[in-house]
Amino acid sequence: MDFEPSSEQRMLIDQVRRFVREEIIPLEARLDPDASELAPDDHARLVEKTKAMGLYGIDIPVEFGGPDIDLVTRTLLAIEMAQHRAGLYAPCYGVFGGAGLAQLFEANDDQKERYLYPTLRGEKKAFFGLTEPSGGSDPARAIRTRAERKDNGWVLNGAKIFISGADRAQYGIVFARTDASKGRGGITCFIIDSGTPGFHVRRVVHTLRSSSYATELEFKDCWVSDHQVLGEVNKGFAVANDRLTRQRIPYAAGCIGVAIAAHEMAVEWSKMRETFGARLSDRQAVQWMLVDNEIDIRTARHFTLEAAEKARRGLPFRTEAAIAKLTASEGGGRVVDRSMQIHGGMGMTKDLPLERWYREMRIRRVGEGPSEVQRMLIAREILGTSAR
Ligand SMILES: Cc1cc2nc3c(=O)[nH]c(=O)nc-3n(C[C@H](O)[C@H](O)[C@H](O)COP(=O)(O)OP(=O)(O)OC[C@H]3O[C@@H](n4cnc5c(N)ncnc54)[C@H](O)[C@@H]3O)c2cc1C
Repeated sequence: MDFEPSSEQRMLIDQVRRFVREEIIPLEARLDPDASELAPDDHARLVEKTKAMGLYGIDIPVEFGGPDIDLVTRTLLAIEMAQHRAGLYAPCYGVFGGAGLAQLFEANDDQKERYLYPTLRGEKKAFFGLTEPSGGSDPARAIRTRAERKDNGWVLNGAKIFISGADRAQYGIVFARTDASKGRGGITCFIIDSGTPGFHVRRVVHTLRSSSYATELEFKDCWVSDHQVLGEVNKGFAVANDRLTRQRIPYAAGCIGVAIAAHEMAVEWSKMRETFGARLSDRQAVQWMLVDNEIDIRTARHFTLEAAEKARRGLPFRTEAAIAKLTASEGGGRVVDRSMQIHGGMGMTKDLPLERWYREMRIRRVGEGPSEVQRMLIAREILGTSAR
């Protein structure tokens, strides 16, 4: 497959690149190095600009009002959007809008009115509640949160952990076991409003990323009506799985964007910095780090675009998405690490974005399915075995 951008793609890429360099990076110079949000005025001003560019709602499917951009082009743009300090988890601080929880496209009309459309308009935030203290790599078996039938609805009891942004969300998608006798065929997906009695954000879990990101949730006799079931009862696991597979492509794209930015910084620095009477770029030890960076970036870019292209064509892309996620998160982490090394002490400071990328990239070898689980998925394809 040839992934050389077409002239149309090139135009969009250049537009987004200019936006990141002219609008986002200068604002970051005035922000706290760990900030994930812009001042409300700046955010509103930049949203107007992305709307004028015709690129607002970049992840939103056309039928829900997003721009008519195919998945390969979206991936190329996601790579550009990540090329700034907060780019890995807050690409362009959300000013390009986004689909949020993709599962909501499967919602019924009433749920779309109450949850999907306000989210697409940026009026509501949501969380994705799958992982539990009993495990996240194998959620089908690990889910212990129970939902039992009561009064034309369901009563939830249990806990979730590492749930991103639930403390700031108005609602979330929560997976619970509705049939204990079945494995993945006994899980249902619920939409839970944050104010529902019996639902609590128990605490913020401090991670490498920042002090207020992941959360621990508790459900104690939390009653929700049948209207809150997303999709069909006992078919929730397919909803989770579909989301996780698709999500791996933009997830990989973010890693590639950050790796490109780190590598560019390392190249520039190596040409300027002198030690022992010569520039770093003259040292073979440094050149080889740059070569390895280049290879890691090209590898991840190729596999991620391959996954996007297969998904775009409607072909199976589960293995390709796993390869993309694996090569981009592991390779991207190595690129950031080498780029820090080339910067010496400066690489360790918060004056540069490298240390933030280093911490955040580390999470990506665990989040959305650890590297070992991606390898397991790829091994199944090679060996022709199916999920147990
Ligand atoms: C910052 C952050 C944000 C997160 N946000 C969310 C969120 O919004 N929503 C959500 O639902 N979850 C979220 N998660 C959870 C994340 O998806 C899980 O941490 C991840 O899926 C791994 O689950 P676990 O931590 O329970 O590890 P476990 O499942 O206990 O696995 C532990 C380790 O064992 C190894 N392992 C597991 N299975 C295998 C295998 N088959 N073969 C070989 N080795 C294996 C891997 O190295 C793995 O890292 C977040 C996590 C973090 C750190």
